[in-house]
Amino acid sequence: MRITADRDVCDGHGMCEAMAHEFFELDDDGLVLVLDEAPGDEHRELVDSAVRSCPVSALRLEA
Ligand code: SF4
Repeated sequence: MRITADRDVCDGHGMCEAMAHEFFELDDDGLVLVLDEAPGDEHRELVDSAVRSCPVSALRLEA
């Protein structure tokens, strides 16, 4: 699977980082950075929850 983040849309709410800090981090500008864009399938549930938690739908998870 592959995580993509649209930093033009990200509003810095930090839900993703709070839910899955191994994969998401806010940078100095307060916008999301994806730490691992291609996590193993064993992380799907966690990553999927974090992606869905974003209030502005800035994150996508592709199969
Ligand atoms: S939850 Fe969405 S808006 Fe908030 S930091 Fe993550 S990607 Fe950005």
